[in-house]
Amino acid sequence: MTKADVIIIGAGPVGLFAVHQLGIKGLKSVVIDNLDKAGGQCIELYPDKPIYDIPAIPECTGEELTKNLLEQIKPFNTQFFYNERVDEVNQEKDLWVIKTNQNNFFKAPNIIIAGGVGSFEPRKLSLKEAEKFEGKSVFYAVKDKNFFKKKNISIFGGGDSALDWALELSKFSKINLIHRRNEFRGAPHTLSEIKKMEKEDKIIIKTPCQLEAIEEHENKITSISVKYDDGKIERIKTDIILSFFGLIMKLGPIAEWGLNMNKKTIDVNPENFETNKKGIFAAGDICSYPGKLKLILSGFHEVAL
Ligand code: FAD
Repeated sequence: MTKADVIIIGAGPVGLFAVHQLGIKGLKSVVIDNLDKAGGQCIELYPDKPIYDIPAIPECTGEELTKNLLEQIKPFNTQFFYNERVDEVNQEKDLWVIKTNQNNFFKAPNIIIAGGVGSFEPRKLSLKEAEKFEGKSVFYAVKDKNFFKKKNISIFGGGDSALDWALELSKFSKINLIHRRNEFRGAPHTLSEIKKMEKEDKIIIKTPCQLEAIEEHENKITSISVKYDDGKIERIKTDIILSFFGLIMKLGPIAEWGLNMNKKTIDVNPENFETNKKGIFAAGDICSYPGKLKLILSGFHEVAL
């Protein structure tokens, strides 16, 4: 059980600035986010896009803004819990108790929901059998790369995450990089490194094909079958499947916490941004009040109040 003065749900720009505003008042916060890093939409959707409407910063990218917000809150030594989605919010006397999908519990008298447009969730493999191996041998993110050492890993995807992890894990494991198209979408430098590893037989590229079946023995994956566009099926020795098909945004469990909702946003009192539940506040893109603007600047103002 982690205790704090305030639990902040969401490490987007608004959640990060909330840490600052609480910190200067001497309040200790913890931050929970479903993603593996801070930054919310700025980092997931537009890390390189310029932002022109942050006061006193004529221009910065989504990534730079996130970096600066993290720098600004360094003095508060805040604890961040990544890769955890807040699933439940329950009341226990004067305190709120939060439960995450990792079965971790947090307790505080106040919560700030800075959940943006909801939690970013991985787009999952369409093969139904994959579900039962989730968290054991099918993964949509890498939390501890040591777990992936000396394994036969099949990585699915054609973007930066698939390529970056293929390169990193090829240092100590055998990698099959599988993509439904012949072209990859990664940075040119990463692509040339992948080609080098392919020549050294550390990465085997399989395109254009998709996951067709998972073969198992005693509940462990032993191999997978992929189907090429021309109909050919190939069996590949595999212990671990890693899939990087991008993220989807889902409002998720927030809708079930008994808060007054307005479509997919939470109604707040614009004087103090409290919701209909005492001690639960909402700010940023997730909150709704007359005249609300979905801008970073507005979220900063909201957490200040
Ligand atoms: P988000 O950035 O959405 O962060 C919310 C975080 O909460 C996410 O990381 C999510 O994973 C997490 N979360 C949600 N639910 C849960 C849960 N149950 N458990 C755990 N974590 C959860 N605004 C500007 O001011 N200027 C611009 O130039 C600008 N350009 C934009 C360009 C694009 C392409 C887009 C899409 C938006 C742009 N915006 C811009 C809007 C701006 O990005 C948003 O207003 C801002 O990101 C809102 O911040 P937030 O912290 O409220 O939410």
